[in-house]
Amino acid sequence: MSENDKQGEIFRVAGPVVTATGINPRMYDVVFIGEEKLMGEVIQIVGEKSIIQVYEDTSGIRPGEPVIDTGKPLTAELGPGLLSSIYDGIQRPLQVLQEKMGDIIERGVNVPGLDHEKKWDFNPTAQAGDKVTPNSILGWVQESQNIKHHIMVPPGKSGTITDIKTGSFTIDETIATLDDGTQLMMHHKWPVRNPRPIRQKLAPDIPLITGQRVLDTFFPIAKGGTAAIPGGFGTGKTVTEHQLAKWSDADIVVYVGCGERGNEMADVLKEFPELEDPKSGAPLMDRTILIANTSNMPVAAREASVYTGITMAEYYRDMGYDIALMADSTSRWAEAMREISSRLEEMPGEEGYPAYLSSKLSEFYERAGRVTGLNEIEGSVSVIGAVSPQGGDFSEPVTQATLRIVKVFWALDTKLRERRHFPAVNWLNSYSLYTRTLDPWFSENVDKDWTQMVKWAMAVLQKEAELQEIVQLVGADALPDDQRVLLEVARMLREYFLQQNAFHDVDTFCSPARQENLLSCIKKFNDESMNLVSSGIPITDIMKMKSKDDMAKVKYEQEFEKELEKVMECMMGECELMRGKVEGAVESKPTVDKAKPKPAAAKPVAKEGDE
Ligand code: ADP
Repeated sequence: MSENDKQGEIFRVAGPVVTATGINPRMYDVVFIGEEKLMGEVIQIVGEKSIIQVYEDTSGIRPGEPVIDTGKPLTAELGPGLLSSIYDGIQRPLQVLQEKMGDIIERGVNVPGLDHEKKWDFNPTAQAGDKVTPNSILGWVQESQNIKHHIMVPPGKSGTITDIKTGSFTIDETIATLDDGTQLMMHHKWPVRNPRPIRQKLAPDIPLITGQRVLDTFFPIAKGGTAAIPGGFGTGKTVTEHQLAKWSDADIVVYVGCGERGNEMADVLKEFPELEDPKSGAPLMDRTILIANTSNMPVAAREASVYTGITMAEYYRDMGYDIALMADSTSRWAEAMREISSRLEEMPGEEGYPAYLSSKLSEFYERAGRVTGLNEIEGSVSVIGAVSPQGGDFSEPVTQATLRIVKVFWALDTKLRERRHFPAVNWLNSYSLYTRTLDPWFSENVDKDWTQMVKWAMAVLQKEAELQEIVQLVGADALPDDQRVLLEVARMLREYFLQQNAFHDVDTFCSPARQENLLSCIKKFNDESMNLVSSGIPITDIMKMKSKDDMAKVKYEQEFEKELEKVMECMMGECELMRGKVEGAVESKPTVDKAKPKPAAAKPVAKEGDE
């Protein structure tokens, strides 16, 4: 306890909410409650009484026990050593705690988030005489195999460097001195509820490539964008998150496990450290921070875990990295808000959630963005929040509030899961509001006709959904040939393109170029088949094309491009053969049958494959 700390006492205890008297705190001051010094945060002040949400279990705490106000807000400790750590909601390193006290964390333990003894080799990039301001880069340390941790001037410090060192230092040792005598170290603290300042937000016009066809092609997320992914049990939420962590072109992953069941989080804690970073071959944890806050941990800490996570993400963004933050699940955080709100006897809103649910969620998502930092360096934080609507009902308040905030919605669907269509992203319910701002990137970097082709494919899938009703009534055979072709093309889009096996060595990741190749091959089949149909070729012949079925296997081939080329060649040959037969038959007829449509001139077709 420092001299500035004020001491009061507990007046009332209601679950995670404690009322104290005798302190005179500011909102969101951190306080320590009771003999055991449980950590909490002031969330309401009414006259003499301070209402505190406590981040640890309050059982056994009694009125009359002491309360200490630290006068400081909840902060995260930022510096080298964050990567590959596993923290609880208030940044206590779980691996360190486990070594100290086994599997059960005692209450009131206060362990720093970073290792203060470890020495890091500091390589300066700034030099004496340089003028620096907050976030200016002083140098770097190699934090993990592939990530350089740039050491920045802490907030509120500026001046001219008079001395900067090279060598091995702990995060508490001075690495540089400013002209006013300020000594700079390799770490600082940041109040987690405050977004870290930036110079400018940039347009969301670069995609976060995920290598997942349904996401990149149809519902892309921008770097610095926000997405929600509802995750009913077994719909593939965890697999999708792993895929994003492994394959997305983010440099760093922050995974916040917020209020999920202990065994689910245990899976993540067990699986993540075992995952290999496919890009570097190093453990994925080398560029990951896990924050674990399970459903049996005190509910108030869920909020802390979300803010702690996003603060760490912003910190690495300020160094110029692209971060993907995954929060799993924001619904559990909303439930914590509901519980605290009811303890505070606030007026409940829809389904008991507090009226500020929406503003809290948007405050969080608004911290996403691709930005230019104070140091003029560009970086991004993309936020992907899982939502767990009860029974998959998207009309419930948390899903609805989230939908109003995020720009991308990947709707996982129980029916698709039952059909074993993975990823079970429903292409009719999902959307991305970034499509328009990202189109120029795809046109420039993947293919100039990208936008039209994606629109065409989506139109086919929508038309298929419309035709389904008729098909169920009268059967597909009763449809005109062109619609039967459409149904077949839609099936190919679903099975060859949208379905993607996360567990297959090749199929697990599909580059945008391959996505484009595969899609244009399907479109080529569509265009050729439509031509054949209008030339009077029987649909049954078209359905027998070997190349069509060969296309199904291409996505599993290491030699994807070669195989696809073979399929294209085979397709052109087959089409030629069918056309030849018809022309032969027409020529051998003495007169032209007026009732039959003339063979249509070949329509302009999509460009030839993709060389
Ligand atoms: P949730 O986390 O939503 O409960 P999971 O992510 O554990 O669901 O997925 C459940 C199962 O669905 C997985 O074990 C796997 O068999 C299957 N699955 C989900 N997504 C895919 C995918 N992209 N590829 C292959 N299988 C998948």
